[in-house]
Amino acid sequence: MYSHEIQRILKRKRIRIGDHVLIEKARKRYFGLLMPKPEFGEPGTIVMKLDNGYNIGFGAKGLNISKAKSEEPEAVEEEMEYELGKTKKGLLKTDFDPKKPKVSLLSTGGTIISRVDYRTGGVYAVENPKELLHNVPEIAKIVNLKMTNPLNKMSEDFDHEDWISLAKHVAKELNSGKKGVIITHGTDTLHYTSAALSFFLKNLYKPVVLAGAQRSSDRGSSDAGMNLVCASHVAISNIGEVGICMHGNMSDNFCYFIRGTKARKMHATRRDAFRSVNEPPLAKIFPDGKIEITNRKFRERKDKKVGLDTKINENVALLKAYPGSDPKVIDYYVKNGIKGFVVEATGMGHLPTDVSKKPWTTVIKKHSEQGIPFVITSQTIYGRVSPYVYTNLRKLFIESKAIPGEDMLSETAYVKLMWVLGKTKKFEEIRKLMLTNYAGEITPRTEINTFSVEGLNE
Ligand code: ASP
Repeated sequence: MYSHEIQRILKRKRIRIGDHVLIEKARKRYFGLLMPKPEFGEPGTIVMKLDNGYNIGFGAKGLNISKAKSEEPEAVEEEMEYELGKTKKGLLKTDFDPKKPKVSLLSTGGTIISRVDYRTGGVYAVENPKELLHNVPEIAKIVNLKMTNPLNKMSEDFDHEDWISLAKHVAKELNSGKKGVIITHGTDTLHYTSAALSFFLKNLYKPVVLAGAQRSSDRGSSDAGMNLVCASHVAISNIGEVGICMHGNMSDNFCYFIRGTKARKMHATRRDAFRSVNEPPLAKIFPDGKIEITNRKFRERKDKKVGLDTKINENVALLKAYPGSDPKVIDYYVKNGIKGFVVEATGMGHLPTDVSKKPWTTVIKKHSEQGIPFVITSQTIYGRVSPYVYTNLRKLFIESKAIPGEDMLSETAYVKLMWVLGKTKKFEEIRKLMLTNYAGEITPRTEINTFSVEGLNE
């Protein structure tokens, strides 16, 4: 509960929690939703949720607050109808047209199906993912959607079993005549799942489109709706690949479709958080359905059955080496059953050598000789690991037998190593498979113009 002083002000102005309010302070005007006092909040500080999703606090002293006319009356009215954690029955009024292309939507959780919790100001997952469709009726003009809910959790709680289960769901849907599949998913580990599906789905020639949202759908600035509309366009497009479809820039005018093995979340809060690393995104998708191909190297749609290749060995660790880091962690992991490592090195693939007090190269050599593979990727994220430029790199890659991860993302290499270890235990074979490009994870040459803060240099 807020302090008596704040409660008195709110009562006088007939303002209730959840109302759209205007607060004026130091000649600035702030619009937003009035939040209840957060669990650990100060009773004397009133909290407002701005349209961009951020919370902001104001002291009671000289508080100039009034009820505001919402800029999005419908959204707010609707919000008030929901009880926390509950959804209305019969929510999905969207009627799909059986003549539109059939697409499956697999809902798995995350912000894209979340709402603001008015008790804490945090975001919680709704029970009924169909709420998502309720907010984006435009989809019915694009696809005939069948929605199922194989998982319902935030993506930080995902693991390899979830990837395998999703791959099975996707294959089932595509092989039963769907034109494409959309997976709604939390954004935090979206790029791990997209990499896993890229390896697990064999002979895939139909779109598998992963979409999330950085802002929940009850925020005016939510990206959920447009991401879903664009994902629906990709799902019936000619691009037969796994990819991530999210906002392409800060404005609400297009999304990028990024190959599943080349995508990475690069920002904690921006709606255009996902970047295509070391290659251009596959396509620019506009909400009106226009698709502009931005990378000619993509697999085109074919009407073929998709297979599954999900045998993995999940005993892989992803480590990061940094100045002063102790490679003893490797011994610990090996003792605890880890069978392969991806190590995020610095720059072109450097790790502390025998010149340093804690040489990684020596420890890697010791374990490589016992048949444990080490794949080296770079902390720089962009660019390519190269074994030949510096002498120290030669020590690592030739003497210590580490495997250069080429221009693979660390997260992709981590998933790929699990997948490769599911196929073979032979050291040389593992090396060969890790250096083979299966799902666009390795590009033959890194083009310079693929490094850009805006996603694509134009
Ligand atoms: N932590 C959430 C998740 O990854 C964030 C999101 O959905 O964007 O599930």
